[in-house]
Formats: sequence, C-alpha cells, structure tokens
Amino acid sequence: ALPQPWLAHYEAGVPRTFRPSGLTLPQLLERTAQKYPDRVALSFVGATTSYRDLWQQVQRFASALQKMGVQPGDRVSIMLPNTPQFVVAFYGTLLAGAVAVNTSPMYTPSELEHQLQDSGSETLVIFDSFYPRYAEIQGRVNVRRVLVTGVQDALSFPKNLLYPVKAKREGTWVNVPFGERVLSMPKVIASQTPTPQPVTVSPDDVALLQYTGGTTGVPKGAMLTHGNLVANCEQARSWMTDLREGQEVTLAAIPFFHVYGMTVAMNLSVLIGATIVLIPNPRDLNMTLKAVQQTRATLFPAVPTLYNAINNHPDTPKFDLTSIRACISGSAPLLLETARKFREITNGANLVEGYGLTEASPITHVNPIYGEQQEGSIGLPVPGVDAIVAGDDGQSVAQGEVGELWVAGPQIMKGYWQRPDETAKTLVQAHGRTWLMTGDMATMDERGYFRIVDRKKDLIIAGGYNIYPREVEEALMSHPAVLEAAAVGVPDTYRGESVHAVVALKPGATATDAEIIAHCRELLSPYKVPRSVEFRAELPKTAAMKILRRQLAQEARDAQKAK
Ligand code: AMP
Repeated sequence: ALPQPWLAHYEAGVPRTFRPSGLTLPQLLERTAQKYPDRVALSFVGATTSYRDLWQQVQRFASALQKMGVQPGDRVSIMLPNTPQFVVAFYGTLLAGAVAVNTSPMYTPSELEHQLQDSGSETLVIFDSFYPRYAEIQGRVNVRRVLVTGVQDALSFPKNLLYPVKAKREGTWVNVPFGERVLSMPKVIASQTPTPQPVTVSPDDVALLQYTGGTTGVPKGAMLTHGNLVANCEQARSWMTDLREGQEVTLAAIPFFHVYGMTVAMNLSVLIGATIVLIPNPRDLNMTLKAVQQTRATLFPAVPTLYNAINNHPDTPKFDLTSIRACISGSAPLLLETARKFREITNGANLVEGYGLTEASPITHVNPIYGEQQEGSIGLPVPGVDAIVAGDDGQSVAQGEVGELWVAGPQIMKGYWQRPDETAKTLVQAHGRTWLMTGDMATMDERGYFRIVDRKKDLIIAGGYNIYPREVEEALMSHPAVLEAAAVGVPDTYRGESVHAVVALKPGATATDAEIIAHCRELLSPYKVPRSVEFRAELPKTAAMKILRRQLAQEARDAQKAK
C-alpha cells in the first residue's frame, strides 16, 4: 500500500512515473524562446532581456567560442556572479558542445589554480573585479583565452553585448590587460552572428563539472550530464504542479555556480518560461528585498540562512513581500520556526524543505507541497527517485533505524572527473542498479518521510555516545537570542570528544555562555550539552551560504591546542 503522503500528491497531479524529456539544456532554452519570445527572461537591477534576445546572445556566444577554437568536450570555466552574462556563458558553452565548469567567485587564487588545473580548462570567463586573482596564478595554469566582462555590461544588457563597448569605458576597467589572449566578452559576442556550427550533443554527454567537497579535503568535479540536469529540473517541476508556465518570476538570489541555484533558480525557470531576477550578491539584503517588491517575484528558492536573515533583518517590514508564493529551502536543515516566520512576513508563502547534493544535480527529496509537512523532515523522494536507508551491508535497515541514505535516479552524476577511485567509493552497484551513497545518515518512517540525522563525517563521539551536531544546533537555535549556531567536536581527555558551540546572536540581543548552556540542558541529554560556547559576530559560510561547520571545528581544535 502506498503511504498517504504519496497518494495526496498523486491526487494533486504529480505523475506516478517520471519520464524525462530527453532534451539537452540548450534545447530547453530554444523551446522556451520559441514559445515565449517576448517574455522577460532576465531582469537585472531594472534592465531586462527577452527570451528571444537571450537565445540570440547564447547562439552568438557559442559561435564565438567555436571561432576561438573551443571544441566539443573542452572545458570552459565560468567565474561570474548571478548576472545576464552568467546565463549567456553557461548556455552558450553547452550549445557549442563544451563543458561548463562552475567556479566560485569567492575562490582564492590557489583554489582557482587548483580548479583550472584539475578541470584542464583552456577558456575562462571572468568578472573584471575577480581578474586580479586570476592574474596572480596565470603563469601556472593552461588557460589560453580569457573573456572578461563586468557589472557595466550587465546593467546595459543586452545592448552592450550586441554592440562593441566604447574604448573609454573599457579604459576604466582596472587591471585587465586586454590583448590577444584577454578579450572583452561583449566585444567577442558582438563580432558574431547567431549561427553556431551545429554540434551533436546527447543527453548522456557531460554538461557541467560541479566541484564539490570544498568544505572537506580536495574539491573534485562531479560530472553532471545534460540528461542529469534536465531531468532534475523536470522532476522539480513535476513536484510543483501549480507552477504556471510563462507567468512565474523567480528571485535568483542563490548563486548559479552552486548546483542548487543552477537547477532550481536558473534551469527550472528556463523550463517554465519564468522571468529570472538576478541578484549578484544575496548578502545585500536591502537589494534582495527591494527586488522582490519591484519585480513582484513569485518563486524564491533559497537556503535557511537567507530566510533566517530576512526574518531578522530590521528593514524587512518596510518591503512588500506578499507576491512570493512558493519557496523550496535546501542545502541545510530548515527549522520550522524559520519557515513559520517567513510564511508570516510573506503572508502565507508555501515554504517547504527539500534535500539534495551536488552529485544528484542536486534535488532528491522535497516535502509535500499539498500534503502535510513533517517537522524536521526532508520529505519524500521526488518522481523518478528511489531511496533507501542502508546499513553497512548495503541492505535496507529496519524502519525508523539510522543508516546511510542511498539514492538512485536519472539525475545521479556520471562520476567524478578523472577520479575513478573516488567514483567507485561513491557510486555502487546494488539491487540491480547504480546508487549514490550520499554520506548522510538518515531514517525513514512508516509514511515514507525521510529525515537527515546528520553528515556521517560530522558525527561527534563523546564518551562513546554518538552525537549528531544538528540536534545540538536545533537546541541552540531555539534560544531566543541566537541567530546562527554550529556545534562541533573538540578533543576531551575524558570523553574523547566534547561538544563546543559557536553562536552568533541576533542584532541587539544578549546572552551569556552559562545561559545558553542552561537552555541546552533543558532540551538535551547531558552528554549532548555543549561544554563551551564561543560568540562570534557572524559564522563563516560557503558562497552558497552554508555554515562552514568543519572550518569552525578546525578553528576550535587549533584554539584549544594553542591554550
Ligand atoms: P552540496 O553537495 O554542497 O550541495 O551539499 C550537500 C549536502 O548538504 C548533503 O549531503 C547534506 O549533508 C546537506 N543537506 C542538503 N539539504 C539538506 C537538508 N534539507 N537538511 C540537512 N542537510 C542537507
């Protein structure tokens, strides 16, 4: 018998079986451009571009890459914030049959060097203000051509991409030595007609190298194919049956260079002909809130830290956020209190928690949008996904027991780029198919809802007890003065490890470490209660706004050693 939550979804129109369209990403964009040519595709601080113009730019960019000698399968690194140029560079690269490599705008020169070397990219598309970081390492990588663009081009898009930019303006670009190898992206595009050489691309071809593992060890490139990426936005679309084609407005505040923003904010929008409102810097909350009000954004996919920051921002009440009606929160646990408050300030937006990871393009689970949401649950597998909670022997554990979450489906990566050993450790053949071992510990209840207990690697073991930091963090976050919290393990001579809390308080709030510990003592078994509390103005986060728990753990261990 099917669990009730599934039935509620089928009744709301979610298909029982999932059949991917089999299109490539550029075909998806072409189809939307034909269906909705005049619809605004991109909106960037008031400057807009139609789907017709976007498709033209993408074709010109693909022609330009081909003329410069970029071959199908070559890697093109894209180091841009959410701007019109990102969308053009990404889809244009794929139309030329090349592979996009998402590059974090926050990378240090050495991280950039590692990624350029590892991916073997010979082409780099970069924002002018990031250029100095590339300049530092250019002699050590094999980049043959650099295409530079900047915020000025974005503001007057698409004009500047159609007509050569004025030399005078270019002159104000600091530190960019234009020449044979370093070219202006707008100029290069303007010199082309929208007639790239047709390239045969199949859904099984790699579209994207998405680097992951940045918060642990050495980053590796997950190979995501056209089929993976298209399937995943179609899976999300089939889950959200009330999305209105050609009418939605997506606030793209989460960065596209992370696969979550790429699939949910960019590709899903292209699939349904939504207007994409580009937010280059989500930390600028005033800009983000103003954009919602001005564009009447309807969809707002984001991460818990961003919803939480908006909930607690002093200027939030000044803006009208009532146009927002649907949000998927992903990438970290969403506290119900955060969801409740966000619903209140948007006058009832449907905010549901989902789950995913880079290797799965990324979505595998989402909470029911029409049925019951379960407190602390990531919801149900989306159509086309099989999920099990596996024990050490690879068999499903008993219902309610903790095991590793394994997922299978059309969105699971092909493997890690040039790392067969890592691939073999992550993708396993079992029960007649390929499973991705997620590295997350989870449970499943009798109704089919999954819960993430925690990352396997973040487990704290104190006095022989397993402590999942997430549970401690939830206790910390429920203290009224706490804005952000992380729980990490530090060495302890008696217990092996003990729990150390790092917290940031809400603006204007005060609390002492003793108060916070006392609060946790009321909610948690004694062995889980933090032994020490450290206060910070803000917790360090990845560019995708995920709290860097492992960095905090390292810092706490170093501080302890230094004592
Ligand atoms: P990334 O590959 O950077 O997208 O990170 C994926 C990881 O984020 C997963 O393996 C989980 O550990 C974590 N994650 C994503 N969504 C959730 C969620 N809803 N709740 C808890 N952890 C999550």
